[in-house]
Order: sequence, then structure tokens, then C-alpha cells
Amino acid sequence: MSSAGDRRKVTAGAGRRHGGETVKGFVHKVSSPQPSQNDSQEREIQAFLTDEDQLYTYDDLTKVNPVTPTTVLKCLEARYSLKVFYTHAGCTLVALNPFQPIPDLYSQDVMKEYHCSPQPQEFKPHIFIVAEEAYRNVQGQVEPVNQSLVVSGESGAGKTWTSRCLMKYYATVASSSSVVKSQDTVERIERRVLDSNPIMEAFGNACTLRNNNSSRFGKYIQLQLDRCQLLVGASVQTYLLEKTRVACQLANERNFHIFYQMMKGATDEQRKEWKMPRGQHFSWLPNSEKTIEEDCFHETLKAMGHLGINAERQKQIFRILAGILQLGNVNFTSLSDESQPCDLEEQSKDFLQKTAELLCVPAEELQTCLNVRTLKAGKQSVLKPCSQSECSMRKDCLAKVIYAQLFEWLVTFINNSICADKSMWCNFIGVLDVYGFECFQINNLEQLCINYANEKLQQHFVAHYLRAQQDEYVSEGLQWAFVKYQDNQSCLDLIEGIPVSVFSLLNEESRLNRASDAKTFRVRLEKELNNNGNISWDKFSKVPHFTVAHYAGKVCYQIQGMVEKNKDPVPPELINLLQKSDNVLLHQLFTDKETENPTTKGLSKVTVVSKFKNSLESLMKILHSTTPHYTRCIKPNSECKPLTFKMEEVIMQLEACGIVETIRISAAGFPIRILFQSFIQRYGLIGKYSKFKAERSWVDLEADSDILRQEVEKLLSVVLADSSHLPHSEKYNSWVHCGRTKVFLTQSMLDWLEDQRKKV
Ligand code: ATP
Ligand code: MG
Repeated sequence: MSSAGDRRKVTAGAGRRHGGETVKGFVHKVSSPQPSQNDSQEREIQAFLTDEDQLYTYDDLTKVNPVTPTTVLKCLEARYSLKVFYTHAGCTLVALNPFQPIPDLYSQDVMKEYHCSPQPQEFKPHIFIVAEEAYRNVQGQVEPVNQSLVVSGESGAGKTWTSRCLMKYYATVASSSSVVKSQDTVERIERRVLDSNPIMEAFGNACTLRNNNSSRFGKYIQLQLDRCQLLVGASVQTYLLEKTRVACQLANERNFHIFYQMMKGATDEQRKEWKMPRGQHFSWLPNSEKTIEEDCFHETLKAMGHLGINAERQKQIFRILAGILQLGNVNFTSLSDESQPCDLEEQSKDFLQKTAELLCVPAEELQTCLNVRTLKAGKQSVLKPCSQSECSMRKDCLAKVIYAQLFEWLVTFINNSICADKSMWCNFIGVLDVYGFECFQINNLEQLCINYANEKLQQHFVAHYLRAQQDEYVSEGLQWAFVKYQDNQSCLDLIEGIPVSVFSLLNEESRLNRASDAKTFRVRLEKELNNNGNISWDKFSKVPHFTVAHYAGKVCYQIQGMVEKNKDPVPPELINLLQKSDNVLLHQLFTDKETENPTTKGLSKVTVVSKFKNSLESLMKILHSTTPHYTRCIKPNSECKPLTFKMEEVIMQLEACGIVETIRISAAGFPIRILFQSFIQRYGLIGKYSKFKAERSWVDLEADSDILRQEVEKLLSVVLADSSHLPHSEKYNSWVHCGRTKVFLTQSMLDWLEDQRKKV
């Protein structure tokens, strides 16, 4: 175990070198200017103010001076090479993925050190500082305040890992030892809360090109604390499960882990029951030869038991999943006679039979549901044979709707199992683990939703960040209206605005149900949204698309298929069939939410974007009511190699997660803050002021701040009156301001002062 002493940070700002001299506490908080217009000038300032050998010592990126994307990168790289994975960036924590286990960093002893320290902020940056700060904040000075820990980053950056780590932290330091009794088992609540992870990951995570354990859904978990701040329960909210993966996996990707776990971990008896003999090939189970850490059936079963999913329920769940796998092997022949339904391929007959047995539905009816469509004409129904591709779509749709409902059921079950009674808890700490900004070669509705969520979170972050910055202005007696910046409201208006936006047009097209919806959607986008500067089109492109300028970069969205995806239709025959299932759980999944008329089932009516927008709005409401803490996870290389730092990949992520944007926002205000003493020490020798000062006794730097303030004002007025480059003194407040204890400057003002100082 390492001692508390080891965790103390090496504070860079305490003795930074400036051209060979040391100026103690020179800069308090600095953020960068816009990427410099003048590179040579930037280099000069950099050489002057930042000692590269010392970069690794900077625990807070906003203290690197100047803060430019380049200096920030160098600092992170220097730290990473010394296995320092966490760095503050103002109110954000940057977490670099080590891609190797670092057990000493996360042990229970370390958790306790951070928890028990009177000043954990003085320790080296760590996710436990964020955890502990939130934990202490919950108590609040006046009244308790709920907290949110927002973890973001691209796929494979470490969001889920970090979220798990946070949950373990609270399960350790806020352990209540309260015991919950369920049907099968008696378990401590912390155990249950932690056990929700392997279950949700087994059903909601998959091996992708970017991450072997990629979460295919967003998650917000609220950890419920009682009056004594002990963990007494939790509740989970999930967002947008990527259900298409059940029936369609990209080359070199896999289906959800649970299927492979079953395949690899089943006993002989289970194989028989699930009609899954060893060596059987399943089309929906690609790359099963690849073994990954997450293929651990035993752990999922153990967790299910702990949460109270009894043996009978588990049986029902696995039969449903086995049924889905069999369904994947069912294929139809192409239509020879249009008046006759497509036939099953010869080998598929057996798979269809097995599917029907496992889903406990009549085999013939299953086949008819897949290859015959019922068309409503007034009160009459007409049966129409489906084409081969329609059959295949119906098959995929059946698998997707079953899997999505099963996932939703599991989440509800988990909530019932871990959620404390409202009378037992009074505050919560929420942990948000959502997909990061996505930009692929082909982007569709899923990416639009994900990037929209990121825009919302970015807006929230910026508002919070500015509030923190403005709080400092206020406490220093400055008016806070100084910060002007370009926010992302116009992009959000473009996506979700009223009355006309991408979402509103998409929903209208989805409701109108036209055959040529992609075409009309494209025309309407161009016609009705061409005033918004955030949308554009490449007029020469043959593929219908639109490009959105997001805060993190431009993304081109393909229009084809978007309206259909938004409708997400489920043929009513499929729902009817599932309602007849003798599998108690499957039957329940499709009857609980029913209206009198099962064919107009609620889930087919609400469009994907409306549902997503609503759930995101509820999330934002919760976030707004809490104190947020941001952790930005960074993936240092795309091959997931241990301890490998690729500058170009990291900078793109810093841009996408808003760190660079934060820097720009800071630059819009007065990002340089220098204590009066330091200011006088550093610039007291400039121009006329030095003569003026020579006539008086030297200013006492220990004097109270009012006196120092007057001195700084004098210094500024004398120095600036001299200048032909800068506005005259009566207008100089657009360059510099005096607060109660510090001088607030723009970067240009700092540069100018430095120039003047060099001339002395
Ligand atoms: P996705 O968006 O695809 O779900 P993610 O951001 O949730 O990605 P994780 O699954 O949390 O990414 O992390 C990817 C992998 O990186 C983990 O499986 C783990 O191997 C490794 N990893 C992440 N953080 C750490 C850490 N702090 N220490 C050691 N390994 C880590
Ligand atoms: Mg994840």
C-alpha cells in the first residue's frame, strides 16, 4: 500500500520558472487564447512562460501557461509516460486510459485514504477526488445538494470502467451494511448495486472494432443515500439500446456478450434444453472463436441470483435468447410465384421448429407471421405474401423487439431489486455513462441521436463552466457579463427546435408514411432549414445526406433509411404471436403494456427521436437540479495498447469532448488572473511607472488588498497611458480589470506587458 504522502501532488504552479527566475504563485488560473494568430509570438511566450521539463508536474491543465492545445497535449503526454493518468482541467478531470491493470491505484486502502483525508484535493488528481468531492457536497453547507458525475469520452476511453470504479468507491466508503431479503437470497445492498453491472453489461455490451466491452446503451445510475450518507439503494435509467445488433453485426464485431456466454458456458443439460449442440454454427453469433474477458457466464448467473432473478425466471430468459439464436438461422427462398408465400430453405425448417419450441409459439403461425403480411383495407383484412427481403426484415424485427423488451424488463427488475423505498433515502449521487460523440464513414439516426445527446451535455457543461468562471468574477467584484462566447444553441435549434427542425421534419415524414419519404425528407430539409448555418449539403453528392456542424466537428448523415428507422415499425402480427407464447416471461413482455387493441401497441406509435428526446429532457432536468462533476475519459491510442500515447488521436478527443472549447471560452473573458503582489513584482519595472515608483518608497507587498489594488491601478494607468498600441486608459477595461485580490487580463494584454517588460 502506498502512503498518504505518496499521493500528495507535486504542485507545478508553486514555483514556476520564468526566464530563469522563479515567480511564486505567478498565475492563478490561465486558459488559452484562440489558437494564436502569430505562431512565432506564441512560441516565444511559451518558451518564456512554460518550462517543458516541468510539464509533467502540472496537475491542472488550466495552469499550463499558455494553455494551448499543444501545451495541453505535451503536458498530458509527459504525465502519461510517467504513468500519471489523471489531470485536472479546471472543473473537469481528464482520465487517460492506461490499457493495463493498475491495481495499486484503485485498492480499497487508496479509497479510504482519499475518503479519510481532511483535504483530498491536495492529493494527486484521481477519480477518487471527484468521487469524494461529490460525496462531501451532498451534505451541502445550507441544505443537501444532489450530485451528478458525468463521465464522457469516445468508445473505449474508459467511461464504463470509471463508472464502475465510482460505484465501488461509494459501495466501500458509504457502506451501510443494510441487508435486503429477496426470494432466493439475502444480500447486502452494496453487493446488489455492484451486481447490476455484470448483468447490464452481459445484455447491453458487445465486442466492437473499438472496444471489446463496448456499452451499446447509455446509463444514468442514481446512488441513493440516507441521512447518514450511507448507500441504501440505487436506480438505473437506460438510453437507446442498439437493438439492431441482435440481428446484424458489422464485420469483425460481435453480438451482445450474453449469447457468447451462453454458448461457451452452458452445461450439457443446458445445451440440450437450448438446442445448442457443441459446434453448432449460428449466423447471429459471428466471431465466436474470439475469447474475451467478458465471456463469463458464471459471473452473470451469480449476479442474477444475487439480484433475485430466480431459477425459473432465468430458465425463461435463456430459452428466449436461445430462440433468438435459432431464428437467426431461418432463411427464406426467393419468391417464384408472387401469389404464394416464400418457402423456407431446406435446412431452415428445423431451425424454425426449434425457434417455435424455444419461444413457445406454434411453428406454423410463426412461419406465417414471417412470410405473410396482413393489409387492412377498411374493416377487411387482406393477406399478402412477403418478398424474400421482407421476410428477412420481419425476422430481424422479431428478434429486435423481443431483445429490446427483454432488456427493458431486466432494467425494471434490477430497479425493483436495488431501489430503496423513498422514505429511506434523501439524496443521491448520479453517475452518467453515455456514448461519446460519434462520426463514422456512414452515420444514420443512431449517430444523430447520440451526437444530439452530446450537444445537450456540452451545453450543460458550458453553462456550468461559465457559471463557475463568473462566480469568480462576482467574488472578485467584477460584473459577470464580460464573457461572450458562441454557444451551441443554434445547433440544438437545428436538431430539435420548434416549429421546424431535423427532428420535427423527420417525425412529420414518419407520420405521413409516404413511399418516397427519403426523397421528400431531403427536399424539405433543404427548403425549410436552409437559414440555419449549422446545416449544409454537398450539392454534387449522389447519396442523399445532410451535414451538421456540431460543436465537436462536422458530421455527414445519410438520409436513406432514416425515416424508416425513426418509425421503427413492428408488424402487429408479430406482437399477436408473442402474446400467445406459453413462455410466461415472453407473454408478459408483450401483454403488460397493452391497450385494448393490441395491433396499435404503444411502442410502434412513438417515434424513436420523440422517445429519445423525452428521455433526454428528463435527464437534463435531473442534471440541472444537481451539482455536476465532469470526467473526460481519453483513449490514448485506437489499438488499445498499454501506455501508448498518440498525440493526433488525443487532440481530436480533447476537441470532441470540449476541453479545447473550454479553453476558447476562457479566452473570451479574462483568462489570465494574477495576484496583485505578483503583478507588481513582475511588471513594476515597466516604463514610466518605474520612475514614478522610484520617487516613492517601495510598495509593501504584504499590504492589504485595497492598497495593493490602488497600486496596481496606478501601475496600469501609468503604463497604459504610454501606449500607442493599446486603447487609452479610460477604455482599458476591455483589456484588463482589477478584482479584489487579482488582476484579470486578456491574453493580448499579457503579451503586451511581457513585451514591455523585455524592453526594460
Ligand atoms: P464504450 O463507449 O465503447 O462503452 P467505454 O468508454 O465505456 O467505451 P470502457 O469499456 O470503460 O470504455 O474501457 C475500455 C477498456 O479499457 C476496459 O475494458 C479496460 O480494459 C480498459 N480501461 C479503462 N479504464 C481503465 C483503467 N482506469 N485502468 C485499467 N484499464 C482501464
Ligand atoms: Mg462503456
